[in-house]
Amino acid sequence: MENLVIIGSGPAAHTAAIYAGRAKLNPLLYEGLVAGGIAAGGQLTTTTEVENYPGFPEGILGPELMIRMRQQSINCGTRIKTLTVEKVDLNQSPFKVFTNQETVETRSLIIATGATAKRMQVPGEDRLWQKGISACAVCDGALPIFRNKVLAVVGGGDSAVEEATFLTKYASKVLVLVRRDVLRAEPIMQERLKANPKIEIFWNTILLEAHGQNSLEAIKVKDTKANIEQILEVYGLFYAIGHLPNTAFLAGQLELDEVDYIKTIPGTTRTSKSGVFACGDVQDRIFRQAVTAAGSGCMAALDAEKFLSGFSHL
Ligand code: FAD
Ligand code: NDP
Repeated sequence: MENLVIIGSGPAAHTAAIYAGRAKLNPLLYEGLVAGGIAAGGQLTTTTEVENYPGFPEGILGPELMIRMRQQSINCGTRIKTLTVEKVDLNQSPFKVFTNQETVETRSLIIATGATAKRMQVPGEDRLWQKGISACAVCDGALPIFRNKVLAVVGGGDSAVEEATFLTKYASKVLVLVRRDVLRAEPIMQERLKANPKIEIFWNTILLEAHGQNSLEAIKVKDTKANIEQILEVYGLFYAIGHLPNTAFLAGQLELDEVDYIKTIPGTTRTSKSGVFACGDVQDRIFRQAVTAAGSGCMAALDAEKFLSGFSHL
């Protein structure tokens, strides 16, 4: 019987593991075997330079940061298995965690399975991914390749507005490609977007292709109302079309919000099941940063520690 099982391998899971290990909870962490199409280590394994994680003033490569976090988890006493959790049984305590090789029972569970940015799968995207195409403006927007260039953002929600506005700090111009003739974003966000002189909105516009030799140089778009296709010279393309939280394996056993993020009680990492905690992007659809994921991982370990020491109402 395990005390604490942690599912996930990003900053949230490893921070939880570091705290739980130091608290002598002897955690077992399932890091996934290319779970959700992403290598163990999570979303940061899909990027290059991370410049906004404190403690690395010169920046650090995302994969290297995750290797370091993993090693720190091990150093603190975490046992790591490279297996994907396929399902869980949370109906009674102890909870059951199933992989294709084993089933374990555990008194408490931390879910830190993250989220995956939606992609568009247009021709040219795979080849130019992270070579001008990204799903995170806050993460990648400040890179030198985007300075004083024309950039494009796809999407019409709050993320698209935030990302486009953020990018105007670096870009000469930001084109926002909106597939309908309205934005989904909050009215105040819409006003902000429309008032920004560096932003041009392309209504009723869909992305068709991404072009470029070694990095993005242009995109093909279509105005679906006028039925006109055109090539736009842009050097950065940012998707802001939503994320998918990795919660399918829960099969409805925890309360999720309307877009499938795990619901936690504000100010805690407690879920709808006592003894089950959630941290990181799988329960955060607003901030979605490595440092916020790590912070909530710390909270989850402290919540689990309290639960295991007899505060069973948690
Ligand atoms: P994730 O990093 O999403 O990791 C969760 C991982 O758990 C999954 O990837 C998978 O490996 C594993 N997993 C999932 N399901 C299972 C399962 N069933 N069983 C076992 N394992 C499973 N943030 C910043 O602060 N700075 C940046 O510069 C930055 N750059 C980014 C660049 C890109 C391209 C992307 C996509 C994101 C970037 N982010 C950045 C955001 C940051 O990566 C995320 O906010 C952060 O990684 C979330 O951490 P997490 O621990 O919640 O989960
Ligand atoms: P949303 O789901 O709200 O918006 C996604 C946008 O992308 C929509 O405009 C949608 O168009 C568009 N879209 C989806 N798929 C495609 C596609 N294949 N091609 C072109 N466009 C597409 O996601 P967000 O990430 O913007 O927001 C998620 C949640 O987080 C929301 O609740 C939001 O309010 C919140 N949030 C809040 C922030 C804040 O308060 N500052 C900041 C960021 C997010 P359509 O409208 O036609 O469906």
